[in-house]
Amino acid sequence: MTEDNITFDYITRYIRRTLRQSDGIIAEMEEYAKENGVPISQPESIKMLELLIKIGNVKRILEIGTAIGYSAIRMAKAGAEHIDTIEINNDAAKVALRNIMAAELTDKIFVHQGDAKEVLPTLDGSYDLIFIDAAKGQYEEFFKHSMRMLKRGGILVSDNILYKGMTATDELVLHRKITIVKRLRKYVDMLCNHPQLETDILPLGDGVAISVKCCD
Ligand code: SAH
Ligand code: MG
Repeated sequence: MTEDNITFDYITRYIRRTLRQSDGIIAEMEEYAKENGVPISQPESIKMLELLIKIGNVKRILEIGTAIGYSAIRMAKAGAEHIDTIEINNDAAKVALRNIMAAELTDKIFVHQGDAKEVLPTLDGSYDLIFIDAAKGQYEEFFKHSMRMLKRGGILVSDNILYKGMTATDELVLHRKITIVKRLRKYVDMLCNHPQLETDILPLGDGVAISVKCCD
């Protein structure tokens, strides 16, 4: 296990070898992300999202944290028809728009540039799937609006929930991350005890919580 991985390296390497090689614009975005240090979803996490979209016939998605549009584009290609995605960083949002144009998905992916805390109250769509993948210390805030807009039977995916293992054990917690870790632990606890949700925590990528809104 290395600092960045929540599972054994040989398992991650093995699983990644089983995934199909990306090509075209997806491969270009992966290359860009690597060169520029842009965080994008781990291969096994984005694959799981694609499967959820296909299994659940997911059409409308809300994403919090666009970065360069990598996950949004992959989710649209997996079958989503309308994706609202929010990004606070202006430069990242511009790169995302460029990528969405290059992928010819401007009719499906809508980038909202701004702080999700301010953008979320202005949205009133209803979504089959909500993907929370932005500032890790603010998930609870994003969650309030997500619950309001998530359809009954809809899926909530919260990424980076194990935060390099720090959420699970004090032994790994870096001092400067302590506030975020405390908030993530509280968030996981809330998800797992929420009366309207059923949740499972998967040790995939950086830890993914999958919840289903089982009742109103
Ligand atoms: N979902 C993307 C990766 C997102 S990385 C993918 O898999 O390809 C997280 C992004 O969240 C960063 O680009 C960061 O700028 C953005 N972010 C952080 N805080 C935010 C906030 N409060 N509102 C909106 N976006 C935010
Ligand atoms: Mg993430």
